[in-house]
Amino acid sequence: MTFSQQVKQELCRLEIRRECCALAQLYGMLLFSRSFCQDGQVFSTESRQIADYFAQLMAGTAGTVVTIRTDFHKKSGDTGRFTVLVEDEGQRELITERFGLRLPGLSPLFLEKECCPASFFRGIFLLYGSITNPEREYHLELAAPSAYMAEEVFLLGKTAGIQWKISRRKGGFILYVKESEQIEDFLTWIGATKSTLKLMDIKIIKEMRNKVNRATNCETANLDKTVDASRAQVADIAYIKERCGLSYLDEELRPLAELRLQNPECSLRELAEMLNPPLSRSGVNHRLQRIRQAAERLRAERKDERK
Ligand SMILES: [Zn+2]
Repeated sequence: MTFSQQVKQELCRLEIRRECCALAQLYGMLLFSRSFCQDGQVFSTESRQIADYFAQLMAGTAGTVVTIRTDFHKKSGDTGRFTVLVEDEGQRELITERFGLRLPGLSPLFLEKECCPASFFRGIFLLYGSITNPEREYHLELAAPSAYMAEEVFLLGKTAGIQWKISRRKGGFILYVKESEQIEDFLTWIGATKSTLKLMDIKIIKEMRNKVNRATNCETANLDKTVDASRAQVADIAYIKERCGLSYLDEELRPLAELRLQNPECSLRELAEMLNPPLSRSGVNHRLQRIRQAAERLRAERKDERK
């Protein structure tokens, strides 16, 4: 089940306590339908649960019987989509009148009480909304039937602190939010508190994972530094060996030079432990600096010879 489906399932199980809120929810559901006023189709969904939920709400709140038409997949024969419609023209007209669906703008009748806008948005989200899996990205959207309706709902959301953005898509308009805090606020507001907690949980895990990744990047950077240093040391030792042999180095430095040539991948600490007798890390570092100085001395001599 997708995260979006989980949120909707939670919302379908929510008990609506007040009559005014049930009407506000139904109002949102009908208002955002693209074609209810023309052909009676309210929406189409893959979820039997949402289709049934709407049918019950229509019956209980408005006394209207809806039809749920099942479309089967041509190949598999499985149930694919459920199309929800009010077939009876008389009933459809009654609903249109009662909810003022032909009026321009939002009807204050269903939204004036403080408790109702949340239900209105819950209805819209259930039928025309979706949320992306928060493990991937933060994105919640509502598909509005027109630019005008998108604007109206944008303003209503603003009063509740939801800062929608609007964009155009395939003959419709989308209201969306991309900030995780905004999504959390919206889900809590419309009553999906469990889903909000789940989203916050996912967010924490994501942030921790990022932290771990950053730490690993840091270690990689250190590793790169070690590799670069070793490369320079090996170049110095190889140069000395080529010019005049490792006997050029004194007895303290020679075993370390040999070890480094044989083990270019080892850290200073590992080199220190391999020496006989073992040395401290800083001791190794000090001797490697002396080897570098020896190599530089030889390079400088060569330069002088060439002059
Ligand atoms: Zn209410």
